[in-house]
Amino acid sequence: MDTILVANAGSSSVKFQVFGIGQDGSLKRQIKGQMDGVGSRPRLRATGADGAVLIDRSYENEAIHDVAAGISITGAWLREELKIEPIAIGHRVVHGGPDFDRPVRVDQNVLARLEKYTSLAPLHQPYNLAPIRSILARFPNLPQIACFDTAFHRGHGALADRYAIPEALYAEGVRRYGFHGLSYEYIASILPDVAPDIASRRVIVAHLGSGASMSALDNGRSIESSMGFTALDGLPMGTRPGQIDPGVVLYLISEKGMAPADVQNFLYRECGLKGLSGISNDMRELLTSDSPRAALAVDYFVYRASLFAGMLAAALQGVDALVFTAGVGENSAPVRAAIAAKLGWLGVSIDAEANEKHVRLISRPESRVAVYVLPTDEELMIARHTWSLLSKRSEKHARVS
Ligand code: ADP
Repeated sequence: MDTILVANAGSSSVKFQVFGIGQDGSLKRQIKGQMDGVGSRPRLRATGADGAVLIDRSYENEAIHDVAAGISITGAWLREELKIEPIAIGHRVVHGGPDFDRPVRVDQNVLARLEKYTSLAPLHQPYNLAPIRSILARFPNLPQIACFDTAFHRGHGALADRYAIPEALYAEGVRRYGFHGLSYEYIASILPDVAPDIASRRVIVAHLGSGASMSALDNGRSIESSMGFTALDGLPMGTRPGQIDPGVVLYLISEKGMAPADVQNFLYRECGLKGLSGISNDMRELLTSDSPRAALAVDYFVYRASLFAGMLAAALQGVDALVFTAGVGENSAPVRAAIAAKLGWLGVSIDAEANEKHVRLISRPESRVAVYVLPTDEELMIARHTWSLLSKRSEKHARVS
């Protein structure tokens, strides 16, 4: 069976999944794993579709000096021990800049263009691209498809795409991109099947994980996002503050003497639930803690989520459905209940028992807004894009030849 490898590379780890391609083109997850601890204690772990452990192997730090080397070891394990030779690799790439509004096969020219967006996402883009570059050098004929977190939002109108800043900065790429696009696209793609009543209507999707954002979908298309130029804006997150007055950043620089790299580290790693609670970035810990600061952090998260829902409802001029997804959205009944309670004015009313059970539809029959809990699957979305691009190319090829 042909397979597709999906890779999501970060600064010290790469998460990967292998999908088998059925006769009818359907995709089936076969393997899920990660190589983490690169730079400290590299470890490769993976499980099969039935959850059985396929590998749990540690490596000397010197053996794997970067994530690209980690992918190479993972690829060798797949090829040599499992006899799996993927026909293509789909990569998650955070930034497609202003130009890429859909997935693209990466060649040297595309790679050079994507490298230019490193300044737009310095903590993600270089790590996403490094493995692509090294695989391109070793296996130039293996198709590698870049799937962007920004692409699904590229259809935003001018008002949603801009900041009130001079045009020259917009022209060079300072725009409100929005992120988590692969997650929103996946949700939009399943709505016609799992919730046909709302698929073509006005839907707010809340992707609440350790990174968190919300997106407004109108007839399955994104029209607005809580995130902007970077993945710092919008909702508070595990370690990022979400929306913050830029004056605070000026204060950190002028009064605290912080250098740009310190500010960057502060905003990406020390704020959000972690900064506010002083305890943890993990919602589970905060919910079980009896510290008043943990309670404040949870309340703040809920409050800000409700404010952004109001903003997106205004963008959509009303709302027909609310979808919760990602780690917190899929698993935390108390957070969903608290956000829903703050949206009563919008017509949200959830069924406490259904919510506790994490069933798909958790709103009451009389709720003006339907409320769903839908697990996201960004990796499947990447595999679908990769397969769709490949099959289109081979169709085109077949027609030409
Ligand atoms: P990401 O992909 O952004 O790393 P996830 O979508 O996997 O994040 O979400 C991870 C977060 O989900 C964790 O940090 C944790 O706070 C939260 N989470 C997972 N399960 C629960 C739960 N049962 N209750 C509350 N929060 C949860």
